[in-house]
Amino acid sequence: MSQLSRRAFASGLPFGLVGGSLLWGGLSGGGPTPAFGATQDTPATSATPASVTPLAQIRIGRFTVTALTDGYADMPYTFFPGRDATEVEQAAKAQFTARPSGVRFLFNQYLVEDGERRILIDAGPAGSIGQTGALPRALGALGLQRDQIDAVIVTHMHQDHMGGLIAGGKNNYPKAELYIDRRDVTYWTDPAKRNGAPDYLQTSFRMAGEVVRLYPKLQAIDGEREIVPGVSIVDLTGHTPGHIGVRVEDGGQSLIMVSDMIFPVVHPGATDVFFLFEQDRAAAKAMRDRFFPRAASEGALIAATHMPFPGLGRIVNDRGQMRWQVADWALQN
Ligand SMILES: [Zn+2]
Repeated sequence: MSQLSRRAFASGLPFGLVGGSLLWGGLSGGGPTPAFGATQDTPATSATPASVTPLAQIRIGRFTVTALTDGYADMPYTFFPGRDATEVEQAAKAQFTARPSGVRFLFNQYLVEDGERRILIDAGPAGSIGQTGALPRALGALGLQRDQIDAVIVTHMHQDHMGGLIAGGKNNYPKAELYIDRRDVTYWTDPAKRNGAPDYLQTSFRMAGEVVRLYPKLQAIDGEREIVPGVSIVDLTGHTPGHIGVRVEDGGQSLIMVSDMIFPVVHPGATDVFFLFEQDRAAAKAMRDRFFPRAASEGALIAATHMPFPGLGRIVNDRGQMRWQVADWALQN
């Protein structure tokens, strides 16, 4: 870790100096709030400078798992069906996570390495939402280019998980096998579904078409299966039809990347509160009703896309009330 930290510090640059995409505005910018999912074509001026690239690294048996982040966006308090905006804002304030324009969402990705292969879980929104587009730089801080990634697992076809695959209208991971659940591939490339969908999901539909076009090596996954020994798909359908998690397991240790099972502020304390993007709320609730107690009883180490960086924690049953417990990750050896 010390070498990694040193490299990360040495290569740290203010966000505002790197590339154009980081400055592309979104929900967290000042001024009028753009439609969700829209990409602004004028740079926002309120990007918060970050002096170092966030990286966090843990060992799971023979695997090294590195948390990377593409950036963040602040989600309006009105984006959580099941609770009114005032309730969400009060809960955010009580947790000291309230921002003027909403709940801070990180966009965390995870790089899984076993010494032979590099598997990236999710690709980030890449500038299509908020202050994002930092993933290539985070990989760069590890000395990696995107063409050194052997496989990408996309947990579902929302724009904030796949945008980086096709940012700039090209295949950004040319050497990678790409794995996405078949139910999501089918859903998000269905013109009838697209026609019936609200505006804020149109970007995801458009991107899904681009992904299929630009990644002929896309492998649609049917059900739970191993991708490589020790890295397997977990069915977490609900948030989207083909929403999946990824379990990394070796030597008696395990980590499960659960993607959008858990949203900050509202989860895991309740399961009858949702994120706006969730079209089948009954399915989303059913999965959280099953998953939260199971994860709590197993003490499962969890990685979650939108939780505060590095998104590592556990669900704890605190006298009947589920809460998120941040996991130690540094200096554990
Ligand atoms: Zn998401």
